[in-house]
Amino acid sequence: MTKLKSISKISSWFKGLKEPLLIAGPCSAESEAQVMHTAKEIAALGKVAVFRSGIWKPRTRPGNFEGVGEEGLKWLQQVKKETGLLTAVEVANADHVNLAIKHDIDILWIGARTTSNPFSVQELADLLKGYDKPVLVKNPINPDVNLWVGALERFHKAGIDKLAAVHRGFYPFEATSLRNIPKWEVPIELKSLCHNLPIICDPSHIAGSREYIPEISQKALDLNMDGLMIETHYNPSVALSDMNQQLTPKQLGELFDQLIFRRSTTKDEDFTSILETLRSQIDSIDQQMLELLAQRMNIVEDIGKYKSHNKVTILQLRRWEKILQTRMKLGKKLGLTEDFIKKLLQLVHKESIQRQTEVMNKLSSKKE
Ligand code: PEP
Ligand code: MN
Repeated sequence: MTKLKSISKISSWFKGLKEPLLIAGPCSAESEAQVMHTAKEIAALGKVAVFRSGIWKPRTRPGNFEGVGEEGLKWLQQVKKETGLLTAVEVANADHVNLAIKHDIDILWIGARTTSNPFSVQELADLLKGYDKPVLVKNPINPDVNLWVGALERFHKAGIDKLAAVHRGFYPFEATSLRNIPKWEVPIELKSLCHNLPIICDPSHIAGSREYIPEISQKALDLNMDGLMIETHYNPSVALSDMNQQLTPKQLGELFDQLIFRRSTTKDEDFTSILETLRSQIDSIDQQMLELLAQRMNIVEDIGKYKSHNKVTILQLRRWEKILQTRMKLGKKLGLTEDFIKKLLQLVHKESIQRQTEVMNKLSSKKE
């Protein structure tokens, strides 16, 4: 099912643009000097086509650095003039769009928080009607592929065919090593819904920490994604936002040297082979399964502490019987065999009892 019919290829957006599209630049524009310094070093790598920079920053809580505003757009014009890099900014309301157009910004992106709100997306789509600006749509905060497709459709209906999606991961409900869970199965599903839609990966916002950026970037390239957007700052240690997930231009160059760029394919459908798609889905699900098991064990330890304080025995037979009964019923409904569910639960239960025993032994040895 192709929901988005006439999507133009990234290479046709601007003269000389190539795939994979490499976008780099700071999380936020902070000063003219920071922008120019970073842009010149990025341009010198000779690999990046687009300079990104947040001008208005959507912050979870007020009071944090909220961006420099209109002044920053002038610095981006300067970047374009002096380095030849194309420029991209995030827009979230009518003011942003009008100012970005007035300052001749080349590419606009829609942030994750905005994509999550169809009212805002529709307002932006209506405003952009008639302009020939490429629009990049980040995934919504929640792993809801339809909300993502819906946002893309709103722009497409407004006549925008220079469209791409940006995969930046999804909000994790429990702490994980990554800032946002990649859930690779979601962009893969998006690609299977909209075959000709380019998808760019934003490893910085998935990682939250620069050490994971290479691994995530390679994974995106292996899935044949159409580009990378990597936050880059001449000196991340003084960055006013997202300091831990930005690379220096030198580190960005080293990353590009390490990454294995696969031969570019001629067929749009060739996002990834079927086997690779399925394996990526399994990898992502296994990772989530292990994270959930680890969370379960943490709660089990808390229960162990509670039982120890209240002098309750570890094995509560009635609770165990209830677990078995309810999970087997659910498993059956989900198409899993009773035998498999029983064995799995027994294994998990055995490990849980062992964890609780360790916790209780530790607490009682402290008392002695
Ligand atoms: C950003 O790109 O700096 C940004 C705010 O990203 P996101 O909308 O993905 O959180
Ligand atoms: Mn950022």
